[in-house]
Formats: sequence, structure tokens, C-alpha cells
Amino acid sequence: MKKDIQPESLTKWFPNTHNSKPLLISGPCSAETESQMLNTARQLAATGKVNVLRAGIWKPRTRPGQFEGAGTEGLGWLVRAKIETGLPVATEVANAQHVELCLKHGVDILWVGARTTVNPFSVQEIADALQGVDIPVLVKNPVNPDIELWIGALERLNKAGITKLAAIHRGFSSFEKGPFRNAPMWDLAIDLKTRVPELAIFCDPSHICGTRELIPFVAQKALDLDMAGLMVESHIHPDAAWSDAKQQVTPAALAKLIDGLIVRKPSVDSGSFKDTLTQLREQIDQLDDEIMQKLSARMKISEKIGVYKKENNVTILQVNRWEEIIHTRIALGLAMGLSEDFTRDMLKLVHHESIHVQEKVMNAVNQRVG
Ligand code: PEP
Ligand code: MN
Repeated sequence: MKKDIQPESLTKWFPNTHNSKPLLISGPCSAETESQMLNTARQLAATGKVNVLRAGIWKPRTRPGQFEGAGTEGLGWLVRAKIETGLPVATEVANAQHVELCLKHGVDILWVGARTTVNPFSVQEIADALQGVDIPVLVKNPVNPDIELWIGALERLNKAGITKLAAIHRGFSSFEKGPFRNAPMWDLAIDLKTRVPELAIFCDPSHICGTRELIPFVAQKALDLDMAGLMVESHIHPDAAWSDAKQQVTPAALAKLIDGLIVRKPSVDSGSFKDTLTQLREQIDQLDDEIMQKLSARMKISEKIGVYKKENNVTILQVNRWEEIIHTRIALGLAMGLSEDFTRDMLKLVHHESIHVQEKVMNAVNQRVG
């Protein structure tokens, strides 16, 4: 399978990016109006940090009746943004007609969205429309955590003659609701990198996070995993965006976010091995990351319990349950080498926050009813 994909690295291909890492693709989730598109593009270009402008023209929406994109008119705005800023532009294509329109208007880079990568019929239609065309194509991971579908989509495009291929990791839909809109499941991205080492992989923290506050952490993690670059959604007025409002940042906030990222050199490049302390600290970082995710998932369940208790007239604090938690967790902790005092203190803290979360839910429900 590996032999079927022989993509050039996009980072090598973009003329204006040899020294800039991470490569940054940014722009609004959707092109909404000509002035929103152009003003966002101008401000992004002015940061001097953006290598490629993005904007969704046809929007795949989970439910009908929401803004479904500006369509062909929006392509005109995107191309104006390209002419004004001199930056290459990218948009999502989901069928052959989108491909034809993009090629006609001079879009520089295409991407296949997560809801399209899941469907081999749609991917094949796009591949057929691209037969004999020399254009870079970025393939987002499918909505579901299936690496074969992701590789399959890359293969279909590669077989149609597309060599400027790259992947975009945007997280996966998951039944267990954690802090993220789409669970990163980093292992899958690492797996793709291992199976197709020539392929550049970008990370899209916006669609992984769903909220702008989390973006810096996910972006840093992507860089630490040596991803080739980032796709981050940016809008002049994020809160007023017609799609994905919560996860967009202003161009100024984007510049700050990028400045705050640390680009670490892979140890092979720097010619020195990571020292033991660095390695151990990385393991701690990884574990803290997992602990925070689990704590956040636990609080989300506390919230649901709060709703249930309210609906069923149950008190927030149930002493028996709390005693059982203390008892079983301390025993488990001791078996795992954690002191009784530590486990008790930690549980008290978690329990305290959990009660706080439930109180908030109950008050909110009360307000709505009242
Ligand atoms: C987008 O990039 O705006 C988008 C719709 O992304 P995804 O396909 O990752 O959901
Ligand atoms: Mn979006």
C-alpha cells in the first residue's frame, strides 16, 4: 500500500515557505461576504505569518437550514483576496463541479473535507475530475477514526496523477464527549506518518478543539509531533461568524498564538540526543495532557448527573456514594503505589469541583424553569 502513494512534500513545493515552519494555512471557516473575506485576508497577510489563505465556499453542514456557503460568487472574492495579498488560496471541494469551478477561477490548492473523505464514491468523483491536473490536494481525515479510508482517499487521488498530496489531521468524531469537538486520537496521525513517511501532515487545531481557548495547546502538540504545519480558522469578527464561530480567532490573535508556539528541532537534525531530563519531562507532559482530558470528561458526566438529579429531585450530595468512592479509590491507589493521603486530597478536590459543576447546572435549570 505504501508504494502506491508517492507524494512530494508540500513544504518543498510552496515557493515562499522554505524557511518558515510551521507552514500556516489560515482564513475564515466560510467566505461570507466580499468585505469579510477581503478584510480578513488583508489582516492575515499583514501579520506576515500566513503562507496560504483558506475559505470554505461550499459548506458541508451537519443539519440543513444553516449557512451552506456563498457558492460561486464566493470564489470570486477568494481570487480577489489572492490577487490583493499575493498569497495562494485554498478551498474545499466535495464533487466534480466544485473542482471544475475552482480550476476555472484559479484556486491554487484544493482540500477534501472530512465528510467527503468517508465516501469513496465522492473521492473517486473528485479524483476523476482531477485526472491530468497538476494541483496540490490536501486530504482531511475522515470523520470516523478509520485510517484505511484516509489512506484510500490519498491513493485514489494519487492514482489520478496528483503528486502534490498532503494530509490534514482534524480529529475524529467520538461517542465519548471529551473537551474536544473532535477527539485528536494522535495515534492515528502518527500511524499515517509511519506508513507514508513521505507525506506531509498538517494539523487543524480549530476543528479538533471547537473552542478557541484550546487551540494553542493542540497546535503546540502538533508541532511537537513534527507536523508540517497548521490550518487555523481566522475571521475579522469571530463571534459573528456564520459557521464555526466559537473556534475562530482574529488575525491579531492568530499572530499572537503563532508567536507563542515553540518550534523544537527534531533531535536528528540538531545532531544531539535528547537528554534524559527532556525525555522524562515529555512523558510527564503527555500524561498531564491525558489526566486533564480525563478530568474534563469526568466533569462533563458530573454535569449530566446534575441534570438527572434535578429532574428526579435527588440531592446533590449523597453521602453513601461519596464514602464508596473514597473507599474504593484509596484501595486502588494504594495498590498502584499512591499514598492514602494523596488519593484522599486529590479526590476531595475533584469531588468539590464536581459538586460545583452540578450546582451550576441545577441553578441554570432553575432559572430556565422560573
Ligand atoms: C472546514 O475546514 O471548514 C471544514 C468543514 O472542515 P472539516 O471537513 O474538517 O469538518
Ligand atoms: Mn470550519
